[in-house]
Amino acid sequence: MTAPARTERIPFFPPDLFEADRTVLLDLLLELGLSPEQRFILGEHTRRFEGLLREALGAADVVACASGTSALDLALTAVDVGPGDEVVVPAFGCAPLASSVVQLGATPVFADIDPHTMVADPGDAERRITGRTKALMPAHMFSVMADMPRFAGLARRHGVRLVEDSAVAQGAVLDGTPAGLWGEAGVFSFVQVKSFGMPGEGGVVVTRDAALGERVRMLRNHGQDGSNRFLHHVIGRNSRFDEIQAAFQVHRFGGLPQRLERRAAIAAYYTERFAPLAERGIVPPPAGTDGRCYYVYTVLADRRRELAAHLQEQGVDCHAYYPLPLPQHPAFAVFAAPGDRWPHAERAARRALSLPVHHRLTDADVEYVADAVCAFAAH
Ligand SMILES: *Cc1c(COP(=O)(O)O)cnc(C)c1O
Repeated sequence: MTAPARTERIPFFPPDLFEADRTVLLDLLLELGLSPEQRFILGEHTRRFEGLLREALGAADVVACASGTSALDLALTAVDVGPGDEVVVPAFGCAPLASSVVQLGATPVFADIDPHTMVADPGDAERRITGRTKALMPAHMFSVMADMPRFAGLARRHGVRLVEDSAVAQGAVLDGTPAGLWGEAGVFSFVQVKSFGMPGEGGVVVTRDAALGERVRMLRNHGQDGSNRFLHHVIGRNSRFDEIQAAFQVHRFGGLPQRLERRAAIAAYYTERFAPLAERGIVPPPAGTDGRCYYVYTVLADRRRELAAHLQEQGVDCHAYYPLPLPQHPAFAVFAAPGDRWPHAERAARRALSLPVHHRLTDADVEYVADAVCAFAAH
């Protein structure tokens, strides 16, 4: 712990994420801003972006919308979740997992997680299925895809719908099937911190069911169908996509596989360095690439507070996602039965610590971060 502090901090999120594409973005701003069509939402660029993603993924449809959260709302609505229904979601994860269900008048039912991978435990999820369960919504967490083969089996066996919160797993493939296509509907988020983040808000619903895609298309734009404006078939939303962002994402899409590979290589290096630390109270995620996408690299640390303080002191930014299980937030506690517990989610909330893994890190940065963690474990 005596290594000299670096003069430059290692940020958790790169401040120069879009620097290489700066002129493209400025040119697009001028081009679309001054074009005679004055078309700023749901135009040709959005259609091209949706088409690119659809082909790359092998999906029946990809529908761009206002955010990942909105994509969850559209997907749940499209599979008919409504008042009185229950939706089984992970007890550990981000707020939209529960709030998207609550917004529809349905009740989130929280399932505990696997203690190591931190994704929803299908066994606990199954125990929580009742006659009112309408859907299961597992989520991919940090770098690990949920156990989708087992969730797909559960959905079939119990006759419930399956929505996949794949917001953070764009590019991951499990047993040959990409994240997003395991459920009836999946989502991606393009908020800047995600692997295919952009300078603004946006998301997509992805689906292998063309009819479901059609419903989502209507829902995102006030319940109209594309060809018949001002005829409203269903109660919809305003969840449209920005043309400048769409054109920018089309431009950046080609580089995504390389950026994801760089993240995976950094993660592989960390995991190799950290594997021996397990007996010293720092447990890395499992190694490997099947069903993996290194959106965030998260270790489980018995002494998280001390490790985080050590890293900050060494100039390495880190984050504790998520400090509380969902059912223990004031907003969601009312949906949990009194006395119900999620021991693995509670333990993960105390131990999870995420390290920088973005593609702008140099090899020297990555080695420095690994050294800092190993130096802490040695004391
Ligand atoms: C980021 C995220 C969302 C929401 O996406 P936004 O674009 O921020 O609305 C939903 N689910 C998970 C698991 C996420 O990480």
